[in-house]
Amino acid sequence: MFELLKTDSHTKARLGKLTTAHGVVDTPIFMPVGTQASVKALDPRELLEMGTQIILSNTYHLNLRPGLDIIRAAGGLHNFMNWEKPILTDSGGFQVFSLAKIRKIKPHGVEFRSHIDGSLLFLGPKEAMEIQRVLGSDIAMVFDECPPHDAPAKEQRLAVERTIRWASECREQPRANGQKVFGIVQGGSNPALREECAQVLVEMEFDGYAIGGVSVGEPEPEMLKAIEFTEPFLPANKARYAMGLGTPAQMVELIARGVDMFDCVLPTRIARTGTAVTHTGAFGLKGGSYKVDFRPIEEGCDCFACKHFTRAYLRHLLNVNEILGLRMVSVHNSHLYLKVMTEARAAIAAGTFTEFHRNFIANYTPSQKILAQRKRETER
Ligand SMILES: [Zn+2]
Repeated sequence: MFELLKTDSHTKARLGKLTTAHGVVDTPIFMPVGTQASVKALDPRELLEMGTQIILSNTYHLNLRPGLDIIRAAGGLHNFMNWEKPILTDSGGFQVFSLAKIRKIKPHGVEFRSHIDGSLLFLGPKEAMEIQRVLGSDIAMVFDECPPHDAPAKEQRLAVERTIRWASECREQPRANGQKVFGIVQGGSNPALREECAQVLVEMEFDGYAIGGVSVGEPEPEMLKAIEFTEPFLPANKARYAMGLGTPAQMVELIARGVDMFDCVLPTRIARTGTAVTHTGAFGLKGGSYKVDFRPIEEGCDCFACKHFTRAYLRHLLNVNEILGLRMVSVHNSHLYLKVMTEARAAIAAGTFTEFHRNFIANYTPSQKILAQRKRETER
């Protein structure tokens, strides 16, 4: 399924090709997030125009609404949302542990109350794989337990034990035609647990491996360490996916650490509050300083928003709550995320990734929050 085309000689960056039932994906790759069978504010034509190769969608949410019967009747998720390219679905594990109310962990899954209407539901390896089979995603994820980053050591260990047991149950379930399944490594910030979880999952021979339990509120230095602890135990000939990450600079750092796949709600989420992200960092477009700024969001950007509209116009749209404003910032932000991947792939292919990595990080100003986390880490 995964072909490793080249490994960078100075970093762990990798160039690869992922073959799925709905087409081939070049890695490193960013997957725009379509939680509710829609990448928020963007239509499939726009996604294709900006070079989207694969999107992510969501077992937990689609199972609640519209419900499996409707998606089954539509002939699967690709048909339902009119998206012909690959789809990866997460298993719902993350949402059960982050969104759902009143959870009871049982041997074969989790009993919980829906965050929408409070109804009693059950999701485990068997259910999560059955939902993903009906959705017909190209890549299904195993059902895992994702504890908070500050969970006590005992809880982290239990989560790894359940994640391993549930992964093995997921492996035995029926799949959609050509559907691939990725294992998920948990273990928080504990290197021994990460190693143990990775090794057992690798023995089970999944089609690819995700590093989970990152981007769950931990500071950036801890997130990078969790990836560094895990990566050496993952096989070179399978794709590696860091779940729920990150900023453009974090993605470049993670590519340098051997990660191939990313998903993140950030580009579309911050767009809806009027924040644009560029190669040099993020900025709020609503501010008064853009009133008569007739430059595009980012000079040289070839996205539809930058080719057609100015900061002054988009600022105006955002401030009067015109839908076009947040749509165009969503177009730019998502395009930027995909562009960074295209640039990273080109740099790995040309043997210039080290320079690309160095320049990207030097030019990118992280958020105040991330800078504060880094400062705390160096003061330790
Ligand atoms: Zn743009």
